Amino acid sequence: MRYFPLFLDLRDRLVVIIGGGAIAERKLALVAQSGARLMLVAPTLTPALQALCDAGGLLHRPRAFEAQDLDGARLVIAATADRAVNAAVARAAEQRGIIANVVDDLELSTGILPAIIDRSPIVIAVSTGGTAPVLARRIRAQLESVVDESLGRIASFAAAWRGRIRAAIPDLSVRRGFYDWLLDGPVAALLRQARPAAAEDLLADKLARLRQDTASLSAARRIGSVALVGAGPGDPGLLTLKALRALQGADVVLHDRLVSREVLALARREAELIEVGKTGHGHRVAQDEIHRLMLEHALAGRRVVRLKGGDAFVFGRGGEELEYLRANGIAYEVVPGITAALACAAYAGIPLTHRDHSGSVRLVTAHCRESLDATDWRGLANARETLAVYMGVTMLAQLRTELLRHGRDPATPVAFVENGSRPEQRVVVGTLQGIESLAAEHALRSPALLIIGAVATLATQLHWFGAPPQIGTVPAARDAA
Ligand code: SAH
Repeated sequence: MRYFPLFLDLRDRLVVIIGGGAIAERKLALVAQSGARLMLVAPTLTPALQALCDAGGLLHRPRAFEAQDLDGARLVIAATADRAVNAAVARAAEQRGIIANVVDDLELSTGILPAIIDRSPIVIAVSTGGTAPVLARRIRAQLESVVDESLGRIASFAAAWRGRIRAAIPDLSVRRGFYDWLLDGPVAALLRQARPAAAEDLLADKLARLRQDTASLSAARRIGSVALVGAGPGDPGLLTLKALRALQGADVVLHDRLVSREVLALARREAELIEVGKTGHGHRVAQDEIHRLMLEHALAGRRVVRLKGGDAFVFGRGGEELEYLRANGIAYEVVPGITAALACAAYAGIPLTHRDHSGSVRLVTAHCRESLDATDWRGLANARETLAVYMGVTMLAQLRTELLRHGRDPATPVAFVENGSRPEQRVVVGTLQGIESLAAEHALRSPALLIIGAVATLATQLHWFGAPPQIGTVPAARDAA
C-alpha cells in the first residue's frame, strides 16, 4: 500500500492553499467541510474566492508564496499552474513536517485527497493512489448510490445509545446480536422513515424489557420486515436509488412476472427470488398466497422485498398488501416506482399534459366488466383530459363505445405503448374510433398502455426511443360506434 489512509481532525487547524484559480476554488470547497481555518496565498483570486474573502470566511495573503506562509499549518495544498512554485511549496512543507498535496503532481505530493462519500459521522474515502482519478470518481458514484442517506443518522443514533446499551447488555456476544437487530431491524427502519422519536421509544422499550427478560432479544431479532418496492416499467435505469438499496439488502424478493430480468439481476446475489406474478391463465399465485409468503418470510426474520412492476400503489394492490402486513404486525416501508403511464409517455415522446392540448391526466384501468361499469365516463369524455389506460388491450370495444357515447370525439388521437421503456418497445398511433382494429392489426400484447387524448399524436414528432411510432390505417366507417 503506497498511500496509507488516515482521517484527520482539522477543526480550527490551519490549512493553507496556494493559488487563486478554479482548482484552488474546488480544493477550498472540499477542505472547508473539515472546519479548518483556511488561508489562501495568491496575488489574484477568482470572483467566487474574492467574494468568500470579502465575506470574512477565510484569510487571504494577496501575494506570491513565501515559505513562512506554512508556519503553524497542518496541511498545505498547492494549486498553482507553476511547477517551480509548487516545488517550493513542497520543499517548505517537507522542512516543516507538514503534509503537502500538490495538484496533479504525485512526485511532489506527500498526501493525496481521496474521493469522499459523506454520511457523517460515517465517511468513506476512495483513492486510486493518484493513478486514475476518473476511476475513483466512478467508484464514488457507485458507492453513493448503494449507501443509504440514513446511514449517518443510524450511526449517530447508535453512538448516542452506546453507554445505555452496554449497561443493559454486559455480555459482548449478546450485545453484538443486539446491534444487528438495531442496525437491520425496525429501529433503523424508523430512522429511514424520518421518525427518530418513535425509534427512541422503541429502543428504550426494548432495553427496558431486556432487563427483565433476555429471551425477548432473540425473539425480537427474528422478526423481519417487508419493503414494498416499485420496480418501474422495465428499464433498470428507472429504478430509484432506494429501490436499488432495498434489492441489495434483500434476503427474499417476491416479484411479479412484469418485473424485468435486468431489474432482478440487481438483487443481492444471495437473495432468494420467488416469482409470484399473477397471469390471467395458467400458473398463478393468488393474492392470499402472496400474503402468506410475505408473512412467512418476515416472521422467519428475513428482509423481504415485495417487488412490483411500475408503482405498487397504481393498480398494484399495494394497499391490500400493506393492510395485511399491518394486521399481522409486520414492519414495512414503501419505495415508489415509476408507473407505466409516466414511463410509457416519456419513452414514447408523449407529454401527458400540454398547455395546448390537455390540462389533466387520469390513470384508469379497463381490465374487466366491473371496472368498466364503475367508471366515470362523463369525466373521461372531456376533450382536454388525457387518459392512461392500464390493462387496456382486452376491453377496447367497450372502452370506445362508452367514451363515444359520452361525447368524446371519435377522431381523438390514441397511442398504444407496448413494452414501454424496454428495447422491444412498440408505439402505435391511431384514433379512438379505430382502437380495436389498431390493436388487432398490430397484434398488440400485454404489457401495453393505451394513451388517449390530443397529446397522443405528439409521439410522431417527439419520439426518441426505440422504433419510431407506427401509424395505424384510417379506420373504415364500420369501426366507428
Ligand atoms: N403497478 C403497475 C401497473 C400494474 S397493472 C404500474 O404502476 O405500472 C399492469 C398494466 O400496467 C399492464 O397491463 C400495462 O397496461 C401496464 N404496464 C406495466 N408495465 C408496462 C410497460 N413496460 N409497458 C406498457 N405497459 C405497461
